[in-house]
Amino acid sequence: YRDETWPWQSAAGLDLAEPLVVLPLLQEVEASRERAFEAAPVVNGSTQPGSSRAVISPASTQTPVGQVVEAGAEAIELALATASASQLQWDRAGAELRARVLEQAATLMEQETAQLMSLIVAEAGRTLDDALSEVREAVDFCRYYAQQARRLFSAPSPLPGPTGEVNELSLHGRGVFLCISPWNFPLAIFVGQVAAALAAGNSVIAKPAEQTPLIAARAVALLLQAGVPAEVLQLLPGDGARVGAALVRDTRISGVAFTGSTATAKLINQQLAERDGPIVPLIAETGGLNTMIVDATALPEQVVDDVITSAFQSAGQRCSALRVLYLQQDIADNVLQMLAGAMQELRIGDPAALSTDIGPVIDLDARQMLERHQLRMRDEGRLVAACSLDESHTGGYFVPPQVYEIQSLAQLPGEVFGPILHVIRYGTSELGRVLDEINASGYGLTLGVHSRIDGFARDIFAATRVGNTYINRNTVGAVVGVNPFGGMGLSGTGPKAGGPNYLYRFATEKTRTDNV
Ligand code: GLU
Repeated sequence: YRDETWPWQSAAGLDLAEPLVVLPLLQEVEASRERAFEAAPVVNGSTQPGSSRAVISPASTQTPVGQVVEAGAEAIELALATASASQLQWDRAGAELRARVLEQAATLMEQETAQLMSLIVAEAGRTLDDALSEVREAVDFCRYYAQQARRLFSAPSPLPGPTGEVNELSLHGRGVFLCISPWNFPLAIFVGQVAAALAAGNSVIAKPAEQTPLIAARAVALLLQAGVPAEVLQLLPGDGARVGAALVRDTRISGVAFTGSTATAKLINQQLAERDGPIVPLIAETGGLNTMIVDATALPEQVVDDVITSAFQSAGQRCSALRVLYLQQDIADNVLQMLAGAMQELRIGDPAALSTDIGPVIDLDARQMLERHQLRMRDEGRLVAACSLDESHTGGYFVPPQVYEIQSLAQLPGEVFGPILHVIRYGTSELGRVLDEINASGYGLTLGVHSRIDGFARDIFAATRVGNTYINRNTVGAVVGVNPFGGMGLSGTGPKAGGPNYLYRFATEKTRTDNV
């Protein structure tokens, strides 16, 4: 898809190599440590009461970042009633108005880049680099879906009228859309889901991840400031088992956009199916058992660089992250030796420091799950490379990146969400087995290929059921409008976020037949 009438331009971001940009940014990050951030349910523009708890930083667990008030039953009911009552009017307001509001939200987010980055660093423990990419992605989502709303929703499409009748087809919001977002992209994915649902003419109830309600609250404040009518956008922080489940079960919810684990997506699907109410879509973007295949013609230096980015950036906490590296056996020793060396250079620590490459994982549960996996791998695999941690890491949930050699993909329990990479050697005659193994996993999110033989990469692309294939580069950081993102099978339902078909799934179709 390419539309020449709307040339796409990604958000500019900040130049982190420019001292005049970086100094005020670091001051903002420092100042935000003193601030107490707050989040609460927001219904019809007003905050709602509920029970409150502290939000802590994964990088420094003694330091509260702020407080969150979680949604109780009354706030949930009020949000559902408000969103249901307002949706038709928002749909009728038209695509142009909705697009302008989203573009204004993008401008506000861009103006607040440093503050948003500071909050992402503090609440989610993401590095400054990741935080900047995330703000850019959130801005891009708003602008991109605004453009797509104009393209798809501005005017009905004329249909043939063989009997003299006028026939036309138009797209509309489905009703109240529930957006359940993850903590690993607490701004970008939160904003992406909400912006898409709003662009298509839905009212929205947003349920952010338990770990990152503060960023979500700031994003909602900016969306409302940009002109999203208060009755159209509701924020309900709280945990998935209580707040999320209560919303999913309510028949006033007309669609769900969810990013998170495959298991939760299945549960939501089941809960939606069991409701005594309308059949509604679930747009799920879930996990991956992502692989990269490196043949003997690949450039080892480039492979090592791309493997480190793909497997360890964001502490491996991306659903696009590389989990299994297939190395052609002739180059395997060389690549592994270079990888082990390069990993010694990685700096793990305070995400607020510019020099940090890898921050913490999100919480204690995540660290314990990864530690259990490391123990298992020590028995079943062979540790071939690792980063070390010093005592300065005792205050946060840090996990050192590690690489284990294993024999087959089937040894893995599924997606292991963190900075642990697995390596499997293969012989040239075994490529068929490798591709079968990848397809048999059932996941299909990202795939990397490193080879200087064009046909090799093209054949792999054609032979695998994977949503995003990246050739001779890393496998993370999909850019809105440029690398529409999303997988298939256990990795999600599609359509791809940041792609031209995304808004269709948030919409319903109406035809008008007029016997003029
Ligand atoms: N879109 C992100 C990327 O390409 C991953 C999103 C996710 O982790 O949910 O890296």
